[in-house]
Amino acid sequence: MEASDHFPSPDALNSFWMPFTPNRAFKSGRHKLLVEADGMYYRSHDGREILDSTAGLWCSNAGHNRPKITAAIQTQAAVLDFAPTFNIAHPLAFEFTHKLSHILPYDLKKVFLTNSGSEAADTALKIALAYHRMRGNGAKTRLIGRERAYHGTGFGGISVGGIVKNRMHFGTLLTGVDHLPHTHLPQNVFSKGEPEHGADLADALERLVTLHDASTIAAVIVEPVAGSTGVLIPPKGYLKRLREICDKHDILLIFDEVITGFGRLGTPFAANYFDVRPDLICMAKGITNATVPMGAVGVSNRIYDTFMQASETPIELFHGYTYSGHPLACAAGIATLETYEEEGLFARAAEISPYWQDAVHSLRDAKHVIDIRNLGLIAGIELTPREGAPTARALEVFDRCFEAGLLIRVTGDIIAMSPPLIIEKAHIDCIVETLRRVLDQTA
Ligand code: PLP
Repeated sequence: MEASDHFPSPDALNSFWMPFTPNRAFKSGRHKLLVEADGMYYRSHDGREILDSTAGLWCSNAGHNRPKITAAIQTQAAVLDFAPTFNIAHPLAFEFTHKLSHILPYDLKKVFLTNSGSEAADTALKIALAYHRMRGNGAKTRLIGRERAYHGTGFGGISVGGIVKNRMHFGTLLTGVDHLPHTHLPQNVFSKGEPEHGADLADALERLVTLHDASTIAAVIVEPVAGSTGVLIPPKGYLKRLREICDKHDILLIFDEVITGFGRLGTPFAANYFDVRPDLICMAKGITNATVPMGAVGVSNRIYDTFMQASETPIELFHGYTYSGHPLACAAGIATLETYEEEGLFARAAEISPYWQDAVHSLRDAKHVIDIRNLGLIAGIELTPREGAPTARALEVFDRCFEAGLLIRVTGDIIAMSPPLIIEKAHIDCIVETLRRVLDQTA
């Protein structure tokens, strides 16, 4: 196929309202299009190999075009293309969730299936509210999020989320929501791994309990590592302290592991890495290696059993999606979990993350760099914003990297990287060399 065959006509560029994208600039500028993917690489419409330092969008954890996953989807499409899961089901939904429950931590062995991380976040919040009501604590309705948090784009997610631009245009959002402070402290710059300072930021939850009274607070939701806001690693001891305060006041703790799940930190989930037990875990992305949209909420047996025992109606939870447990997503999910397991990819991420850490921190003296943060196979590189034009410098770096054959992600003036777990040392070297060169060329 000719490279030009991939290129949409100027007319065709008009219809797609691109998400989280400056549409006017994209459509009038130099278009970046990806047309193929394999292993660690994309191919662009003009035939260039592009090294993927972001696993797509934090999601292709096993790399691209994995044979087992591709075959499972193709086969499943010809056997059972769709079956509903309201009042009837199909075997794969049970097989997949059963398999998933084996790697879910602690007693989170029940799974509610959604189609995205946003739906997983909203589902987890709804389960938390309904759980307290089931137990006769109907006044526990308040939800606590955190500044700079991202929990997708549903109304629940943006209400507990803390990224201002994602909230400001959308009215009054959910009522009864409050926020913890974010965990980014200036004294922690250039921390390798978990920062030393800031466990006491969790004590802000005690202050919210004092302000609102524990009897009104249902749940706290946090990303164990905040990704979309530009990689904020939790200070040592912070998550444990949050858990303790939640236990003290009968508040549910929700970990949004949409980006940290499925090996990103070298363990199945961040809950394993930090050794902290959440009550609910939001998942998506790596759950199917991003091949078919799927999200999920891992639910503790205790919460599930409460619904089964206390529900006064035959349906215990009035919630679900047409595509909860879609057969193609379940087939992809099973093949994905098998791929992770057969190739030992979570352990592989743990093994290579010290090399990743040293490599990304070698950019400490690169032009414009004011902070570097990392954990597992995640890195954030913060740049000085351009005077009067925040985000412009990072966008220029993004464009230049793409031209140089490297896909990075930028958010604000922060470069965020989260490569597939199959990454080799040579790829890491190439990422770091390209970034250094590009930063040097960028005004
Ligand atoms: N939660 C977190 C922590 C995320 O990082 C994301 C997406 O990046 C979401 C939720 C939303 O997921 P989705 O885009 O699949 O709705």
